[in-house]
Amino acid sequence: MIIVETLDDLRAARAGLLSPVGLVPTMGYLHQGHISLVQQARLECASVVVSIFVNPTQFGANEDLGAYPRDLKHDLALLQSANVDLVWTPSSEIMYPPGFQTWVTVEDITKPLEGAMRPGHFRGVATVVSKLFNAIQPQKAYFGQKDAQQATVIRQMTHDLDFPIEIIICPTVREPDGLAMSSRNAYLKPEERQAAVVLFRALSNAKAAFTTGERDAAHLRQVMLDTLAAEPLARVQYVSCAHPYTLTELEGRVDQALLSMAVFIGKTRLIDNFMIG
Ligand code: AMP
Repeated sequence: MIIVETLDDLRAARAGLLSPVGLVPTMGYLHQGHISLVQQARLECASVVVSIFVNPTQFGANEDLGAYPRDLKHDLALLQSANVDLVWTPSSEIMYPPGFQTWVTVEDITKPLEGAMRPGHFRGVATVVSKLFNAIQPQKAYFGQKDAQQATVIRQMTHDLDFPIEIIICPTVREPDGLAMSSRNAYLKPEERQAAVVLFRALSNAKAAFTTGERDAAHLRQVMLDTLAAEPLARVQYVSCAHPYTLTELEGRVDQALLSMAVFIGKTRLIDNFMIG
C-alpha cells in the first residue's frame, strides 16, 4: 500500500495504477461502513484509492471540525488489511492553498434537509470531491447511502460537470441493534449510545406503516416524530418524507420516498435514512 501526502507524489503514484481505478473518499476514523465501500471497489476495480481528509470547508463555524475524531495509524492498518493500493492524506494547505477562491455549488438539491441545517456544507463537499476527482481521476467512485443527500449531490455534480466517473452508492452498514455506523458515534456516552438506536427505530416504524398500507406523507413523518418523542435523550432537528430525486418534501400520497432525519442525542448530531417504495 502506497501512502502519499503531496499532490506530486499522488500523481506519480496514480500514474502507476492499473485501470479501472476506484476511489473511496473519506474523512478517516474508519469503520466497517467505510470498509464496505472499499470492498465494493475492490470487487469492481483493478486499483483502489482511498482519500483521508477532514475537509474544513464542509463544517459550519459552530460544528465539530476541531473535535472530529482522528486515528490515522488505525485507519492505515484497516486499509492495508482491505488490500487498498493507494492512500492519499492531503493536508488542508495542500487542498486549500493560500488564495484559494474557486467553489463548486450545486443548486436546488442542496437547499432542503442537510443543506438547510448546515449552510455551506454541500459547497464544501462538492468542491472537495471535485478536487479529489481531478487529482485522482478514478473511473469509479464509491459513496454511502448513509449520507443520502450527499450521494444525490455528487451524482448531480458528476453529471453536470461531465466527470467521466461512475458513481456507486453502497448500502448503509449498521451496528447489530440498527444504529448506522458513523465516525461521530464515538462521541456518544454509553447511555446516549443506547438511546441512539431510536433513529433506526423511527425509520423502521415508518417503513412498517408504509408496508402495511400507510401512504400519507404527513402521517409517515408523524410516525417518526412519535417514535423519537419517546426517547428523552433525543432532540429532533428535522424529519422528512421527501421525493427520492428532487428531495422536496412530499404531501399527500407517496409511493416512493426518502425518509430521513437529523437528531441530536445529547450534543451529538446523528443522521439516518431509509428509501421506501
Ligand atoms: P465520512 O468519512 O463520514 O465522510 O464518510 C465517507 C464515506 O463513507 C461517505 O460516502 C459515507 O456516506 C460513507 N459511509 C459513512 N458511514 C457509512 C455507513 N454506516 N455505511 C455505508 N457507508 C457509510
